[in-house]
Amino acid sequence: MATLTGARLCSLRLIAVHRKYAVARAFSVSSQAKASSSPIGFIGLGNMGNPMAQNLLKSGYPLVVFDVYPEAIAEVQDLGAQVAESPAEVAQRADRIVTMLPSSPHVREAYTGATGIFSTVKKGTLLIDSSTIDPAVSKEMAKLAEKKGATFMDAPVSGGVVAARAAALTFMVGGSEDEFPAVEEILSTMGKNVVHCGAVGTGEAAKICNNMLLAVSMIGTGEAMNLGMRLGLDPKMLAKIINMSSGRCWSSEIYNPVPGVIDTAPASNNYQGGFGTALMTKDLGLAQDASTATKSATPLGSLAHQMYRIMCNRGYGLKDFSSAYQFIKEDSEK
Ligand code: NAD
Repeated sequence: MATLTGARLCSLRLIAVHRKYAVARAFSVSSQAKASSSPIGFIGLGNMGNPMAQNLLKSGYPLVVFDVYPEAIAEVQDLGAQVAESPAEVAQRADRIVTMLPSSPHVREAYTGATGIFSTVKKGTLLIDSSTIDPAVSKEMAKLAEKKGATFMDAPVSGGVVAARAAALTFMVGGSEDEFPAVEEILSTMGKNVVHCGAVGTGEAAKICNNMLLAVSMIGTGEAMNLGMRLGLDPKMLAKIINMSSGRCWSSEIYNPVPGVIDTAPASNNYQGGFGTALMTKDLGLAQDASTATKSATPLGSLAHQMYRIMCNRGYGLKDFSSAYQFIKEDSEK
């Protein structure tokens, strides 16, 4: 169904890694009332979708799931999810559907393809897209949904795989205020913050601004850590100083890019799992499109985009984006 884009190739390989780290956790349905309601559809069971779907199951929501990569479904199927053959079948069986796909083309395919959601969607269905995509595509999907009598909301996430596993994501929601309580009920089982940003597309707008800042701060953290280590500083000590000083940020404290500084960060796992460089490059491209369209100056966002693009060309696309540190380090050693 979907073509093998860089992001898709990234999906296939990262899922195998994700599954390795998805340890068998205690699993129990906490709400029988929710368990008896109609299933929620979930499409896209990759690094993020997999733990998100598991949290829906844990909260008692029955699920009907689909992914183009069958291996991605195995884990949630073992936990009780029903499996559909296509997005169209998901839309036949569910009236609330969450999609968590790599990028805009994948979303278009899952919604408007020959066996896409819109081919069978029922009137009144609530469609929640948590993928990070072009806000213009969210608006396009919302218009198509409206023609079918359904509601489309964009709800991209921040937090990464660690927060996805812990049901601690932040959701940025764009779309109908009237439908927001229904969206919030579902998303709050997977996240700790569910924020209504405004009309359709505003969730994506907030998300791409956040990720542009994250991309820049990760490069800055990598540069500072590399310089400090080349000056003879111990990386754990340097991170400790930064994290009690004004340079502190999420990239230095929670997701430090130097191996061994934070045990749970992808850097300490050979940059496997986490948020792929190819996906970050995609988000920076979205930010650049948006800054061009709005005539906004984003010089550091533009530079960060170029750096991550070069990283993809040099084989970092499938590694976590914090491998920016590794890229800088290797360049320094030449
Ligand atoms: P991923 O590549 O690991 O997973 C995407 C899944 O979608 C894969 O299992 C793939 O097989 C499936 N898929 C692709 N096309 C499909 C189609 N047409 N129909 C059904 N399934 C299809 O990606 P991810 O890391 O889970 O990220 C998903 C989205 O969330 C992306 O937009 C990403 O930018 C965003 N995001 C990721 C992170 C992170 O840390 N990984 C954090 C925040 C936001």
